[in-house]
Amino acid sequence: MSETRFGAGTSRAEALKLLVERFRRSELDDPSREARLTLCAAANLPQAALIAEPDSLLGGAAARLEEYAVRRLSGEPLSKIVGRREFWGLALSISPDVLDPRPETETIVEAAVALFAGRRQERLCVLDLGVGSGALLCALLREFLNARGLGVDISAAAAEVARRNTLACDLDGRAEIRVGSWTDGVVGPFDLIVSNPPYVRTSEVDSLAREVRHFDPRLALDGGIDGLDAYRAIFPQAARLLAPDGWLLVEIDAGQAGAVLAIAAKAGFLERSTHRDLAGRERVVAARSLRTALGQRNHERDNRHERVIAPD
Ligand code: GLN
Repeated sequence: MSETRFGAGTSRAEALKLLVERFRRSELDDPSREARLTLCAAANLPQAALIAEPDSLLGGAAARLEEYAVRRLSGEPLSKIVGRREFWGLALSISPDVLDPRPETETIVEAAVALFAGRRQERLCVLDLGVGSGALLCALLREFLNARGLGVDISAAAAEVARRNTLACDLDGRAEIRVGSWTDGVVGPFDLIVSNPPYVRTSEVDSLAREVRHFDPRLALDGGIDGLDAYRAIFPQAARLLAPDGWLLVEIDAGQAGAVLAIAAKAGFLERSTHRDLAGRERVVAARSLRTALGQRNHERDNRHERVIAPD
């Protein structure tokens, strides 16, 4: 596959035809679509340009197209090849050091917007554990205009990407990115804590699609023997750091809902629910500690106690 098939004199239409043929002989699912996207990315064109001006020549884009084609054929996602990915309408930079943000992760943003519908203007404090590219933090700070956010990642390289994205989204005045393990050294309270932690069972990481297993960092995928290690760490720590009416929202894999809801209950979260993604799969567990409600109950119990002893 190393011979150059595209030249400066190849037209867009010819290039597309050649690319579809090469992609068709590969494992790629939708060769026509992949070919269109790859060509547009390499030649820096909107898709409409392929139809409007099919006879224009590739020119200087030919060598880049060849490189992109070879990389895509090896399974590298186009987002990683170009180093860009759209999430919640934001154009984010990505690198081999961060999980490629997935559309289903937007379920966390949707859930947060719904749960904080009446509090959009407040100066909310947001914490993103395992911030990765910064996708969630950037999307949330874009939705909650007076919020401030802290993103933590154990990978310094990932934190660097997140920092770059908060700058590019003009959020640097409201966002801080730190390197660390979960909540080590983090001081609350936070109104909203989010995380898309690693949750794939160790034994299953090697059977993920090659786009994922070869090109997403293992650190962002491997959730331990049963895939639940991160939740066991995050829930008790979040319970301590949340404001009384604050929410913790975590992404889960379909099938983990029951186990993660149980971890939430064990960590003392009184209100627990799941949210589904666009494919209808349970994708997010939301939990509120409701220390207010608990405090209220304790208060009532103490008062009752007082009342009981008062007449004596
Ligand atoms: N959703 C990812 C996958 O494709 C896993 C991401 C994660 O572990 N947070 O399997």
